Amino acid sequence: MAIKKSKTNKTKKVAKVEAKPAKTEKTTVVQNKPAKKKRATIKEEIKDYLAERNNKVFIGNWKMNMKFDDIKSYFDHFNTLLKKDKILSQMNNLIGIAPTAIGLLPVAGMVKNGVMPVAQFVHHAKQGSYTGCISYDQVHEYNINYAIVGHSETRKMFKLTENDINLVVKTLLENDMHPILCIGDTLEEYESKETEKSITRQLLNDLKGIHPELVKNVIIAYEPIWAIGRKAATVEQIQRMITFIRTTIEEMFDSKTAKETHVLYGGSVKVENAMDILKVKGLDGFIIGGDSLNPESFYEIIISSQEYARVNSIINAKKIAKANKKIE
Ligand code: PEP
Repeated sequence: MAIKKSKTNKTKKVAKVEAKPAKTEKTTVVQNKPAKKKRATIKEEIKDYLAERNNKVFIGNWKMNMKFDDIKSYFDHFNTLLKKDKILSQMNNLIGIAPTAIGLLPVAGMVKNGVMPVAQFVHHAKQGSYTGCISYDQVHEYNINYAIVGHSETRKMFKLTENDINLVVKTLLENDMHPILCIGDTLEEYESKETEKSITRQLLNDLKGIHPELVKNVIIAYEPIWAIGRKAATVEQIQRMITFIRTTIEEMFDSKTAKETHVLYGGSVKVENAMDILKVKGLDGFIIGGDSLNPESFYEIIISSQEYARVNSIINAKKIAKANKKIE
């Protein structure tokens, strides 16, 4: 998916290092030694490994929390944690923080290491008589390119219809921005086994009329309303819904779009359950509410992925091989 982060965000295919055929000189003895294969460097090996994978997305949804001093001490700590981490800096994750509207500019000024500021909600109109709102164009002006759209709390508070959500999604895509579209089932829908029906309806309406080429720029987040701020869905429930969402996207658009679109989970993700949930097949990351308010917890969740563990082991294996070579 063409998510905008930093230059390092692109997962470029790395050409495999081919050994050059050994030169044969007519005048000298023909050497029968096979050409030596150049060993891949750590960076090349990591790039090769990550090129096969979707980059992970971690969005911290701060909701209506954090004043200026809190934001400052948060980033003092969070930026240090990220800077120190030599594994994370080689990965292609997208990390975003969604503060309140008034916190967006301070956050935009304090984020480092490729972390993105994310708006919690934007209006689809460029400007006008919409007291209490900020427009997509106002955040875009500050180079803020990501916005949460249709969070269940926002849908409820502002009585947003699926048509309203569709307008915001379309407007953001038309303006090279990335909607983080939240969809989820209510407790009543869940209890009456209407989860799939509800999710299908939301996907059909929220993504109505969007060109297939643009869909992969939408990050979809499955957020069961009954799990937010309470207790996370089980790994099995999340697996079922992630597969269901990808199948529905495939039916609505095509298999390439279904594969390329990032699908996240949100709802009581904690340090304790992040690693297990991240093993869900086809899951590309999280929206994290409560636990993103603590820089340490947010960081711990970000480094829970299998990809992080694998990159760590590539680095360690290379270090050990280098040390052994020195001893020989
Ligand atoms: C959310 O509100 O998007 C969310 C995921 O919240 P929490 O992690 O606190 O359940």
